[in-house]
Amino acid sequence: MSGSALQKVTPSHLRRDAYLYIRQSTVRQVFENTESTRRQYALRERAVAMGWPIERVIVIDSDLGKSGASSIDRKGFQKLVGEVGMGRAGIVLGLEVSRLARNSTDWHRLLEICALTDTLILDEDGVYNPSDFNDRLLLGLKGTMSEAELHVMRARLRGGILNQARRGALRVPLPGGLVYDPDGNVVLDPDAQVRQSFEHLFETFERTGSASATVKHFREQGLRFPRRPRFGPHKGELVWELLRHSRVLRVLHNPRYAGAFCFGRTQTRKRVNGGVEIKSLPRDEWTVLLVDAHPGYIAWDQFEANLRRLRDNAQANGSDRRKSPPREGPGLIQGLVVCGRCGNRMTVRYHSRRGKQWPEYVCQREGIDTAAPKCQTIPGAGIDRIVGELLVETVTPVTLEVALKVQAELDSQLHEADALRRQRVERVRQEADLARRRFMEVDPGNRLVVDVLEAEWNEKLRGLHDAQEEFEQRRKEDQQQIGDEQRAQIYALATDFPRLWNDPKTPQRERKRMLRLLIEDVTLTKDYKITVDVRFRGGATRSLSLPIPPTAWELRQTSKQVVAEIDTLLDDYTEAKIASILNDRGHVSGEGKRFHGRMVSCLRRQYDLKNRYDRLRDTGLITLEEIADLLGVVTQTVKIWRSHGLLRAHAYNDKNECLYEHPGDHPPVKRLGRKLSERRCFLNVAPDRTEEVQYEA
Ligand SMILES: [Zn+2]
Repeated sequence: MSGSALQKVTPSHLRRDAYLYIRQSTVRQVFENTESTRRQYALRERAVAMGWPIERVIVIDSDLGKSGASSIDRKGFQKLVGEVGMGRAGIVLGLEVSRLARNSTDWHRLLEICALTDTLILDEDGVYNPSDFNDRLLLGLKGTMSEAELHVMRARLRGGILNQARRGALRVPLPGGLVYDPDGNVVLDPDAQVRQSFEHLFETFERTGSASATVKHFREQGLRFPRRPRFGPHKGELVWELLRHSRVLRVLHNPRYAGAFCFGRTQTRKRVNGGVEIKSLPRDEWTVLLVDAHPGYIAWDQFEANLRRLRDNAQANGSDRRKSPPREGPGLIQGLVVCGRCGNRMTVRYHSRRGKQWPEYVCQREGIDTAAPKCQTIPGAGIDRIVGELLVETVTPVTLEVALKVQAELDSQLHEADALRRQRVERVRQEADLARRRFMEVDPGNRLVVDVLEAEWNEKLRGLHDAQEEFEQRRKEDQQQIGDEQRAQIYALATDFPRLWNDPKTPQRERKRMLRLLIEDVTLTKDYKITVDVRFRGGATRSLSLPIPPTAWELRQTSKQVVAEIDTLLDDYTEAKIASILNDRGHVSGEGKRFHGRMVSCLRRQYDLKNRYDRLRDTGLITLEEIADLLGVVTQTVKIWRSHGLLRAHAYNDKNECLYEHPGDHPPVKRLGRKLSERRCFLNVAPDRTEEVQYEA
């Protein structure tokens, strides 16, 4: 310990505690870099040599295994800052404090707090007093130097890496399915099952044209996909897991499967909050791309074609909606529909009605982009039917080809899947054998080991049993799926496209794929009818049209005939009476219900029929008040005269409110003393309508 270092330590410092901060950024460093940990603990001895009793050297090591990028989740560091800020620390001990002070804002701030609270800093190089100008200068200088050093080192390292990468000789971790041979060359995985799994993935994608369909195929067939983890307890081992969509995309996007060497596909940047951002770069910004650098699973052309296909699919689901791959829904021409109004792709959506799915084609791109109203919406059931009929009548020459293609595909799919599953059983069997051998070879006296190995062996046997059972089961299902009888059926259908098309057993998906072999796109326009323009592959077009089918809402409407009847009946009857007449004639409402007065009233308003009051007024009838004025009597008298038949009236509603016929040349007048029953009565003279309601005031 130099004298100058000791001079910096004053009794004031010694009265306070010493804090040793220990850090090691990753868990791996904690395990592997014990040397550095030892150096950190050695600092404690230096503090003791300077006069701190060992029990007052407080060790903060709760941040072991946490990255130094940010102090947010480093409790230990926060505690240290707290103690220093409160003036409890006489000295802070730590490795490379000078470097940290330069690179890390947290440490920089800590030094400032140290300066304020007169706290010393000690690292392997010496003791600094941050409140002393010279020491601060020194700390800053050392930090700058170490940073420069780091920079030079990094540049050299990167330069070396780049040189190797440009030659394609850089040894980078390989994706699953590719390995280095002993000479360091990239080769396909020597494990046949791994290789075939990758081949199967590429074939399935080529056949189905979509990553989701590939995943679905693997799942349906009970196939697993290999992976060799790069980290963790199973590092380097072969793991078989369910194939995921993201995995398919990664495999398809990785140029190494096409035998190309590439470097610099991503760019890593630090974020302000201490995190790291990884950005994928477009291909022309990759640092290195060497095509045909090593063997691959697919050709470079195929790789490019796959990417194009993925892009098309993405667009089908994205903003532009170009062609999309066939999916499971019943909408036959899904993905091929073009809007006849604006030229955008139309999407399909389904409505459930009476337990069935009804397709509806919608042009809504603008609607999604700008919340504008939908361009047009067209019910799909009728369209699907006529497009199907059109195919059936047009397609005879290509019949055989299509049917045979479908058949061959089915065959090869089943064959491939069967082989892969058989291999899986084989692998499990090998593992069980291995477990058995291990068990046999161990010294029987070593109970603990024997028990563990026995348990392992048992488990492998169980696994083997399961795998075998699954294999048999799948095989049986497959054979059921395509038995001799069915094979004969398919061959029979091969000569008969209409039947293949119309066979209910043909999955809708297959139907869609057949359709795609033949049709380029379908343009739909709706005005007073629906026009369907079909463009075949090769350019031929056909134009069809069909009436607009009633919507669900229209189907629930009361029939036109009933509305017309209501219109006629309103001339003579009130609404309640009309309802009972309609019920007598056996009519029901659109929803199948009996009529009542209010319903008739609603229908009248809905269809804008003239009401009974206006109708009667139009024929010259006058109101109660008008006739009372005319006769020079009170309204009550008018009502009494009406009820005794001296005046003729017609009810215009069901509250028995009436309009009156003009009394004519001989109106009734008041005659005191004459009984009303003896006076002239209209009803007895000329009852003009036999069905007229009896009026009772
Ligand atoms: Zn449109």
